[in-house]
Parts: sequence; C-alpha cells; structure tokens
Amino acid sequence: MRCSKLGEKVCIKNFTLSELEKLMIDWGERPFRARQIFHHLYVRLIGSWDQCTDLSNNLRREIKEAFHLEAISFISKLTSSDGTEKFLFKLPDGYAVESVLIPDPPRYTLCLSTQVGCPLKCSFCYTGSLGFKRNLKAGEIVDQYVQVQQLSKNRITNVVFMGMGEPLLNEAELFRALEILLEPRGINLSHRRITLSTVGIIPAMDRLGKHYPVNLAVSLHAPRDDLRSDLMPINRTYSLEPLIEACIKYPLPPRKRITFEYVLIDGVNDSPREAKELSELVRPLRCKINLIPYNPHEGAKYRRPSEAKVNEFQAILQKAHITATIRESRGIDIQAACGQLAGSLRRFSTNIPSHTHHALTKGE
Ligand code: SF4
Repeated sequence: MRCSKLGEKVCIKNFTLSELEKLMIDWGERPFRARQIFHHLYVRLIGSWDQCTDLSNNLRREIKEAFHLEAISFISKLTSSDGTEKFLFKLPDGYAVESVLIPDPPRYTLCLSTQVGCPLKCSFCYTGSLGFKRNLKAGEIVDQYVQVQQLSKNRITNVVFMGMGEPLLNEAELFRALEILLEPRGINLSHRRITLSTVGIIPAMDRLGKHYPVNLAVSLHAPRDDLRSDLMPINRTYSLEPLIEACIKYPLPPRKRITFEYVLIDGVNDSPREAKELSELVRPLRCKINLIPYNPHEGAKYRRPSEAKVNEFQAILQKAHITATIRESRGIDIQAACGQLAGSLRRFSTNIPSHTHHALTKGE
C-alpha cells in the first residue's frame, strides 16, 4: 500500500497541477495521472471519485484515502428577480462564505470570497465592522467556483475577487487559487476574464502583476490622503502617491483599463472639490471610475447622496475626459461587495435553517 505522505487528509483542490504531478511520481504513478485527475475535477466537475473510471481501482482507493473531494459544503441558494444567484457555503470549521453569480448574458460573472470577514476596518463597511475570522485556503476558493458551476445552469465566463475580504492579504492561497483557475488543462480561465479588487496592498499588487497579471479594480473612495485615511485606515500604510505609481506600473492585459471604485458618501467625499481632485489623481492612468452611491447598512453613520449630487460628480469627471459610470444596483449589489457582502450574508441567513448556518460565527 503506497502512502500518501500528506499526513492529515486534505482537499485535493488545494493542489496545483504541478504539485499533483510530483505527488503521482512519488506514488510511483505516471505524471499524466495528475492531468487526468485535473480533467475530472475541473472539466468534468465530478461529484464522486467513482466517476473516474479511467483510474485504476487501486489508485482511486488511494486518492480517496488521501484527499477530500470537496473543501466546502453547499448550504443554500437564492435567486433574485434579476437572475442573480447567491450561494452560501459552510467551511469545515463552521464559518460560512457566500459566492454570487451575476448574469449579464452572454457574460456570467462569479464573485468569489477570499477571507471570512475582513481585517481592514474601513469606516463605511459592514464586513469590516464584523471583524476578521480567517483566510480561506486555495481549495476553499477554487471549490466556490466548482460547486457554483455544478449548481447553476449558467456557464461561468468571468471571475471577480470582490467578495468578502481583501484578497491580497491572503496572497499565498490566492495565488495558488489563481494558478488552478488559470490552468489550461483544467478550468482554463484567461487572465482577461479575472478581475481582482483590492484596497491597494502595494507590494502584493506588484507580485500579482508579475505572476498573474489579471484585471485590477482598486478601491479609492477618496482623492486625498487625509480623507482616505479617515475612511480607510490602510491608507496610512499604503498612501495615494505610491498607490497610483503602482497602478501605473501594473502590467494590465492588452486593451484593459484599471477600474477605480469610488463609494460616494453624502457630505463626506462627494463634493465638486473631490471630483476635481479625483480627475487630477487618475489623469496619468488608462482607467475608468465606478461611482457607487453608498448603501447604508443598519446602524451606519453615513448617508447616501442625492441623485443630483451623484450626477454632478459624474459630470465633473466626464468633463475632464475620465470615463465614469454609476453602478446600477442588482439583486444584490455584489460588485460593491467590498463591504456589502457580509450584510447580505446575514440577511441571507434568515432564509435558511438556523441549525446549518453560521455566518461569521463558529459552528456546532
Ligand atoms: S471595504 Fe473592503 S477592505 Fe474595507 S473593511 Fe470592507 S471588505 Fe475590508
């Protein structure tokens, strides 16, 4: 009986193809077995090892002994009137994460979470106010993709890392998940079809651009350091000037532009002064700006600006020849999800049996 040499049983979706190839060699198998396994996991989307009939019984038994097939368990799905599908998954330690599939045919965009909660404490953010629990493992990120694809009749065409958490604070597991999502013999997503949203963790942004140059969406929310530090404490570590320099250096996919996210908060960052400062700040860049009128959550200290103020802000940017769109609300405004998703998660919990759901709380 060959030994897995892995110690504790782990989920196979944590492993890149080259790691599985090495493992197969260690097990005395030919490396192409790993490619067969990847095909089963990510092209056929198998739900049981018994479906891998081209692997010997012996190898299948060893794989079953060494690996879990699933990293997360599906709990529940809700479909909103506009077709947005929200999936709730339970993690092995009882926490929960949500993934959202947004239809915009022929594009179907899956929004993935990378952390349970978020440690960054932006002052306008509900997720931040709930605190941070833990980073997700690569397998827990990849399995959101696999299980949503198994559960939805719509074929996922794009992936955005805009769910719960700051992806670049979970760099090692994020990069491993990207490696798996991009693998041509598996899911085979293109860099152009993946967008990562970040507050601007500059050293990790540089490494992302070097190794996995996916599209970038940067949460700005303010055009000056004093205001941005008030809204986003991370600005005291990674301030605007070096952030804009890092954006200029970032190797975008061809014909792509950086997106800047800007949540408009009434009386805080939505005046004509900020619109002008913002247009100056982003002028050196090939970019577009997403204006997101603030959605107050329960107990929020900020308000949503009037439609007239939002339109005026947009007009000032457009006059400066900056592309600026106002983001329409979907069933759940998940693209504003940096800060919105945990709120929906809590509401979501009221629709599923309480004994199965532990959003941001330890499980049974
Ligand atoms: S806005 Fe984004 S980065 Fe800031 S606390 Fe919320 S989830 Fe974290």
